[in-house]
Amino acid sequence: MVDRTHLDRQDDPAVTAEVERLLAQRTRDIRLKGEIKRLFQARVWSQTAKIIRAWMTWVAFLDVLTLALNLVMLPRSIALSMLLPGAIIPPVAAAVVLVWRKRRPSWVQGVSLITGMFLILLSIVLVGASAGGEFYERHLNIMLFVAITAIIIFGVPQAWTVTVAALALGLYLVFQVQNPGLEIGNAVAATLFFASGILATVAARRTMTILAQKTFLFELRDRHRVAELAEANDRLELLARTDPLTGVDNRRRMTETLDHVWGGGGKCPGGAAMLMCDIDDFKKLNDRLGHAEGDRCLIEVARLIRENVRRDRDHVARYGGEEFLVLLPSVNEQEAAIVAERIRECVEAARLPNPGSRVSRYITLSIGVAVQAPDQAISPEQLQRQADEALYVAKQTGRNRAVFHRLESSSLLGARSMR
Ligand code: GH3
Ligand code: MG
Ligand code: MG
Repeated sequence: MVDRTHLDRQDDPAVTAEVERLLAQRTRDIRLKGEIKRLFQARVWSQTAKIIRAWMTWVAFLDVLTLALNLVMLPRSIALSMLLPGAIIPPVAAAVVLVWRKRRPSWVQGVSLITGMFLILLSIVLVGASAGGEFYERHLNIMLFVAITAIIIFGVPQAWTVTVAALALGLYLVFQVQNPGLEIGNAVAATLFFASGILATVAARRTMTILAQKTFLFELRDRHRVAELAEANDRLELLARTDPLTGVDNRRRMTETLDHVWGGGGKCPGGAAMLMCDIDDFKKLNDRLGHAEGDRCLIEVARLIRENVRRDRDHVARYGGEEFLVLLPSVNEQEAAIVAERIRECVEAARLPNPGSRVSRYITLSIGVAVQAPDQAISPEQLQRQADEALYVAKQTGRNRAVFHRLESSSLLGARSMR
C-alpha cells in the first residue's frame, strides 16, 4: 500500500538528489537515511506487518498442535509439564498480532516484536527444560530453528534482527551451560557452531533488505522521471498551441478548436460567431516607433481582446501578424455585435500610441463579424471567409469599426473615428 505522503514527497528535489547519490554507490554500501528511510518504511510497512502477523499465527497454531499431540502421545506427566510453559506462546503471539494490526510508533513496533520473540523463544526452551531428558536439547534446537525463520523473513530494521539473533543465542548458551547432559566446553562449542549459522542468516537478511531498498530507489527514480516527462510534455503541448508573443492560442490551435466546436459536422450545433480583428495601420506603428514597440502593442491588444470575452467559453487566437480571430460559441448576432463593439471601444480607449495612423493617433481595430445561427449550416472555413470579407469592408469604409457580414450587403455596426 502506498500512502499519500509517499507520493507527495518523492518530488522533493533533496529526495531526488539523495536517490541518485545512493544509486551511484555500490549496492552493499546503500544506507537509507532521513526522509528516504521514512518513505521506504511507509512503502514496505503493510507487507512486513502482514508477514509478522502470519508468522505469529503460524507459531501459535504449531504450539497448540504440538501440545495437544504430546498429550496424546507422550507419558502424561511429561506432557503436562510441557503445558504451562507452552501456554505462553498463544497469548504473546496474539498480543504481537494486535500491535502489528496498524502502524504505530517505531519504538512500539520494535519493543513489541523483540519482547514477543523473546517470550516465544523462552517458552520453547522452557518446554524442553520442564520435560527434561532428550527434550531439553531438542527444544533448544527447535528454538534456534524458529528464531532463524523469523530472522530470515522479517524485513525489519537490522538492529531488531540482530537483537533477536542475540537473544536466541543467549538463551541457547545459558540453557546449554545448565544442561545436565552436557559439559561446559561442549555447550560453548555448540553455541559457537550455531552462532555461525545465525550470523549467516542475519547477513542474508541484510542483503535481502538492501536489495529491497535498491528496488525502492529505482522505483522513486522511475516515478520522478515519469513525472518530469509528463511535465515536459505539458510544456511542449502549451508551446505547440500558444503564440509565444501574446500568449493567446496560435492558428494551429484555433483550427483544432474549430474542428472540435463544429464536431466534425457542417455546422456548429449551438450557433457561433467569428470576429476577425485587425489592427489599423499597424505597419505605420512599426515604422514610427520600432518593432519592439509594435510587439508590446500586440501583447496589449491580445490582452484587451481576452478581457472582453468569456474566459471559459470563448477562444482568442493570433491568426496572422496583427490579426486576431475570436470565436464566440452559442451567441446570436446581437450578442456578437455587443462583444465586437466592446472590444473595438476598449482598444480605442486604451490610447496605445500609433502616431502614423491615418485613423487616429492611437491604435484602433477593424473587426469583421460573421454569425452562424443554430439552424444554418456553415462550415468554419466558410464562416471565417465571411468574417474576412466583412473585415475587408470595414477597412474599405474607414477602419476603426466592426462590420457584419451580410450576404446581400455589408452593414456598419459602430463606425466611429477619432477625427
Ligand atoms: P491595415 O490597416 O490595412 O491593416 O494596415 P496595416 O499596416 O495594419 O497592415 P499590413 O498588413 O500592411 O501590415 C501589417 C504589419 O504587421 C506588417 C508587419 O511588419 C507587422 N507585423 C507582423 N507581425 C509582427 C510582429 O510579430 N511584430 C511586429 N512588431 N510587427 C509585426
Ligand atoms: Mg492591419
Ligand atoms: Mg493584417
